[in-house]
Amino acid sequence: DLEFANQLKVEADEVVQTADGKRISLYINSGMGFDGEFAEQEHIEGIGLYRTEYTFMMRQRFPSEQEQQLVYQQVLGDFSEKPVVMRTLDVGGDKQLPYFPIIEDNPFLGWRGIRLTLDHPEIFLVQIRAMIKANVFTDNLHIMLPMISDIGEVDEARRLFNQAYFEVQDELQEADAGAIVPKPKFGVMLEVPSMLFQLKQLKGKVDFCSIGTNDLTQYLLAVDRNNDKVANLYDAYHPTVLNAIKMIADVTNEIGIPCSVCGELAGDPGGAMLLAGMGFTQLSMNTKNLLRVKWVLKKSNSEDLKELADDILNCTRPDQVKFRVNRYILNIG
Ligand code: PEP
Ligand code: MG
Repeated sequence: DLEFANQLKVEADEVVQTADGKRISLYINSGMGFDGEFAEQEHIEGIGLYRTEYTFMMRQRFPSEQEQQLVYQQVLGDFSEKPVVMRTLDVGGDKQLPYFPIIEDNPFLGWRGIRLTLDHPEIFLVQIRAMIKANVFTDNLHIMLPMISDIGEVDEARRLFNQAYFEVQDELQEADAGAIVPKPKFGVMLEVPSMLFQLKQLKGKVDFCSIGTNDLTQYLLAVDRNNDKVANLYDAYHPTVLNAIKMIADVTNEIGIPCSVCGELAGDPGGAMLLAGMGFTQLSMNTKNLLRVKWVLKKSNSEDLKELADDILNCTRPDQVKFRVNRYILNIG
């Protein structure tokens, strides 16, 4: 009835905390540009991953700086009171542009994400300039780099980012001497395992990072995430993946760099519980998963989640982890 529906709606709008009051911020993954309606909902604290690929895939050629600026401006404007993490172009692998074919024997190990855009700085610079211009009115932009596999790439991308920033600043101040151009936050995705052993060197180089559990799982387990023949081996609940994620939680915490999780694991209720137990306080997911994740987190106790997350790190198989997580969910539900 109406009263019950209203109550559900109120519940849906509250920000999330565990039963013992620990805040967990939920963000959404977006990219199609139709998510403006979600900006109004209080329990959605921003966009944790905006995939810019669609803007490039829906055209017959690379979108111009101005075309990109308009798209990004719309998203940043819709979410003007909340942070938006925009990822630079992440094509290659399974994501192809019709007008820029890439033919490789091993696309997932090939010319993907930041590798491609660093080899084509003109593509990267146009996108970064469009983003910086789009952010002038709202100052809520975080720029995030996909597929980073070593610190050298971070340095190179940072150099181009600074170049784009100063170009835009000069340009806008030429038109209006008093113009203020906010500098977006700058961060990286952690999704290539080589970064596990260069985490400490991120200190001073990035403002934030976010774990892409989809690719991290694929690369740690050497299992193509889209290959049916090995689909049974692709599992983010694999203890190796979870230990890697825990390591990232601990090191980023130690060096003081905020780290969120934006891969599918964050939108899985059991996964979200484990991540909260490891100490993550920012989770980004597809909108369809929000309410389920919210429900389990609200029912959970943060100390129990910590114990659960510690416990599963000693497992050797995904099914052992799932058994323990499901047992916990049955207890709270
Ligand atoms: C990931 O790899 O986990 C991720 C969030 O990025 P994508 O799925 O777009 O590769
Ligand atoms: Mg990825």
